[in-house]
Amino acid sequence: MDCYYSGMNKQLVIILLGPPGSGKGTQAKMLAQDFQIPQISTGDLFREHIAVSSSIGKKAKGYIQAGQLVPDDVVLDMLFDRISRPDCKNGYLLDGFPRNVLQADMLGKHDPKNIPIVMCLNVPDDVIVKRAEGRLLCKQCGSIYNKVASPPREEGVCDKCGGEVYRRPDDAPEVVRERLKVYHQQTSPLVNYYEQKKILNRFDGNQLPEAVHAGLKTHIEQVKAKG
Ligand SMILES: [Zn+2]
Repeated sequence: MDCYYSGMNKQLVIILLGPPGSGKGTQAKMLAQDFQIPQISTGDLFREHIAVSSSIGKKAKGYIQAGQLVPDDVVLDMLFDRISRPDCKNGYLLDGFPRNVLQADMLGKHDPKNIPIVMCLNVPDDVIVKRAEGRLLCKQCGSIYNKVASPPREEGVCDKCGGEVYRRPDDAPEVVRERLKVYHQQTSPLVNYYEQKKILNRFDGNQLPEAVHAGLKTHIEQVKAKG
């Protein structure tokens, strides 16, 4: 691999891939903090644009309300606008983008100087299903419990506020499996794409969050040092 990151004029571009429930969002937050770059999620961007009724926001809202996927060109317009802002001058971390090969390709063409550091968190489906299955939530204050590891003192009742503790319908095993199936279908071409470009790095996400974080951080530091 020739120089794919140089601290001089280039930005640190990090792409984090991983299934829903892999802890990707937590890792993204920590890495953005470590390297002082913004964490960019297309979901958040849509919400922002819709909230201020920008032209992109209006377009996106139409698709979302119709229950359709927002087309790639709208997603890309929004993303390119975001990464041109001053807070991205040192780089940025993409969380939940790209979703497909076309988006990855357009990002590469838009920003050919900055070859991204692509990191994929691997967590077995069964582990994600188990984690979700055990997760309990207080309806009132949002406190999180685990059926096995940290249940509330009284079943179904929140220790902190007395509210009802329940499992979100989204965390039911069949729902989680379906979500994972969609993720694998969407993401495996993307993983192959970055693999062919020899910039894919796989990480074992089935460890304590601190251990996952240490591995990701060290990798980024090593790539930066090479530049
Ligand atoms: Zn509560």
